[in-house]
Amino acid sequence: MTVGEWLLGEGLVSIAESTLASGGGKILVIHDVSAAHRMKAELERNQRLAAMGEMAASLAHQLRTPLAAALLYSANLGQAGVADEARARFSEKASGQLRRLERLIQDVLLFARGESIGRDLMLAGDLLQEAAQTVEPLMREHGIEFVTVDGCNEAKIVGSHKALFGALVNLLENAMQATPAGGKICLTGKKSGDLLALGVRDTGPGVELGKQTRIFDPFFTTKGQGTGLGLAIALGVARAHGGSIELFSVPGEGAEFVMILPLGAVESES
Ligand code: ADP
Repeated sequence: MTVGEWLLGEGLVSIAESTLASGGGKILVIHDVSAAHRMKAELERNQRLAAMGEMAASLAHQLRTPLAAALLYSANLGQAGVADEARARFSEKASGQLRRLERLIQDVLLFARGESIGRDLMLAGDLLQEAAQTVEPLMREHGIEFVTVDGCNEAKIVGSHKALFGALVNLLENAMQATPAGGKICLTGKKSGDLLALGVRDTGPGVELGKQTRIFDPFFTTKGQGTGLGLAIALGVARAHGGSIELFSVPGEGAEFVMILPLGAVESES
């Protein structure tokens, strides 16, 4: 049985103990695990650097298109002899691309900050109602039936209210964008044991099996104006609260995203 690992000078040793069959004593086995530990740290660092490189490359790629378009439109604006009507159109298009850039940068910042969580104490039911109230008028406008089922049972969460609210609204907005008029979206909150499940179920087209894991990747989007960061941010927020997001979807029959948050440790602190 391993007893533990200790720092010894510059190195790290692991100590394992086993009781002698004769019952008379114990054997302690001391291993120098410094090299293995160094290799593990180096591997983790390389993985972090690779992830950062990938993120930077995708980000540069995502920024380049709207930036190039905005540059073209603004160059057109400066040309002599452009009619007022065309000038107004170019200006609107340039602003549209710049707004897209702004949204992208805001999302990237949110994504980067995903790790730090606040210490707000909130009732899960309140969070559910606030998110519902925010999206209700939009659902009505899109002709989607919207139902909230609150089974949170006074469950409390400690964390970032702003980040959790943003993540939940994002799941609802995605559901709304995927659901055609006449469809239905259901927001549920359920406390079971020491877990809280916040679910968003829609009757949209669902997610193809091959895309079910990819949709959580930063910058994966199937929408013309999407940033592909919404789910990556929501998952980052859930993870920063010790939870996760699960997707249940039968393609063609809708999708359900469930944010699962642990309550145990959180409630005992409150
Ligand atoms: P964005 O909304 O900018 O595309 P997200 O990370 O929020 O970024 O979503 C990534 C992709 O996941 C979407 O482009 C869409 O293809 C898919 N997706 C998300 N939510 C749903 C849903 N409720 N139903 C079907 N597909 C979805």
